[in-house]
Amino acid sequence: MSLTSTVTAPLIAADPDNLRHADAVIQSIELPGQGIPVQDPATAETIAHVPDADVETALAAVATADKAGVEWAKTSLRHRADVLRAWYDKLVAHSEDLAYLISREMGKPLAEARGEVKYGNDFVRWYAEEAVRPVGNFRETPDGGANLLTRRSPVGLAVLITPWNFPLAMATRKIAPALAAGCPAVIKPATLTPLTTYFAVQLAVEAGVPEELVQVVTTSKSGAFSEAVLLDPRVRKVSFTGSTPVGRRLLELASRNVLRSSMELGGNAPLIVFDDADLERAVEGTLAAKLRNGGQSCIGANRIYVQDGIADDFVAALTERFAQIQVGHGLGTGTGLGALIDDRAVAEMKAYTENAVSLGAELLTGGHGYDSPGNFFAPTVLDRVTADSDVATSEIFGPIAAVQRFSSESEVIGRANATEFGLAGYVFTENLDRALNVADSLQTGIVGINQGVPSNAAAPFGGIKQSGLGREGSSEGLEEYENIRFYNVSRR
Ligand code: NAD
Repeated sequence: MSLTSTVTAPLIAADPDNLRHADAVIQSIELPGQGIPVQDPATAETIAHVPDADVETALAAVATADKAGVEWAKTSLRHRADVLRAWYDKLVAHSEDLAYLISREMGKPLAEARGEVKYGNDFVRWYAEEAVRPVGNFRETPDGGANLLTRRSPVGLAVLITPWNFPLAMATRKIAPALAAGCPAVIKPATLTPLTTYFAVQLAVEAGVPEELVQVVTTSKSGAFSEAVLLDPRVRKVSFTGSTPVGRRLLELASRNVLRSSMELGGNAPLIVFDDADLERAVEGTLAAKLRNGGQSCIGANRIYVQDGIADDFVAALTERFAQIQVGHGLGTGTGLGALIDDRAVAEMKAYTENAVSLGAELLTGGHGYDSPGNFFAPTVLDRVTADSDVATSEIFGPIAAVQRFSSESEVIGRANATEFGLAGYVFTENLDRALNVADSLQTGIVGINQGVPSNAAAPFGGIKQSGLGREGSSEGLEEYENIRFYNVSRR
């Protein structure tokens, strides 16, 4: 079998009742036009069309949101909190609808879509609570004679640009803090998965968010969109989640308008398993950190470093778990790995595998696509990957576990940090000192210690180095949408 071959193997089909549920949700979404087809990545079937906005339409959305933002900025903190809480309740009531929709348009298994819905909804609840926290303070000047009153105010109109991999969570973790801070927003979801954003914003309006305050704009002309919208003087903030090259381009545009900028960009996460790790914990954590979302996660374990003493056992156990995973439609029964987002992703997985093997890696399971419609690639384990392989130097964004071996702590820290990215890292060890020392040494914004899913609405998610600027979630995520100001009050 050539490495690039496809195999004819049974893929789990969608359950017809599940498809009917997802399609009923799609029918309930009010779309303001039709232009761009949206496909189910597991079948290549077109499931909806969304508007393809031109620059004039995008600027009209800016004008509409900006106008609605004037009143919103004057609302009380309690009012904003109540509206966000009502939105959260709506999202919870429609959790199943959201999960079926996400699975249909993005491809992830229904169980994972449910996990994303819980995570995505949590941001709305968190910012409903955070909206009323103290937002200013009163200070003495050190020399006396004056008081300083610091306060926070909404930064202004926020442009929110989201990727396709977590269609709900990426939207709520930007929209909720923007609204809590008192800002209007224009959100541009990825054209591959726009339906979830339309549906979530529709629920927000039903819950009491003013209809014009959050504008959804879908367009196939992203470059023209950002060039027009980010230079508009009414816009004061851009928050982007996506790849580092696009983030760099948006920062260039933002610099011309001196926009407050939050950038959640690419990653190349190291995951380190020491000899003294609990084997089962390490294997399960790696499975979650690698295969969650089909490996299409910015914090996905990209370079798996395993210490020599545990490596054979770890690799054998991981390979066994990968080989058991069933591949198929996200809405099928028993699917553990769904479709990748597009056929380009499948071609990339094949190329990564071939390149790694040509440089000396051993292919232990997977490494192939499937002879069927849809974008499927098998769960794959590569052992003894070389550091110069494409799979080690690039962000994989797919279901390939690329294992490298190491002997000492200092060696692995050097190798883990030898990347321009700094989003997430993982450490597996039963030695607390080692866990914390290694976590301190990793140049990443996030470290998972003995666990593969570190994200939480209460955590300040974000990267260092070329993985980005700013934080999302937690109280820090709210500050991204606030101006800090002070009044100096002279006292006699
Ligand atoms: P992408 O950068 O290609 O696209 C992201 C979004 O930007 C999409 O909506 C796309 O339409 C839009 N876009 C592209 N060019 C644009 C332009 N010139 N102006 C305005 N918008 C533009 O990324 P992707 O392939 O959709 O997502 C995968 C990437 O996102 C990976 O690199 C991943 O690491 C990153 N990501 C990061 C985080 C994080 O929090 N750090 C989270 C999820 C994904």
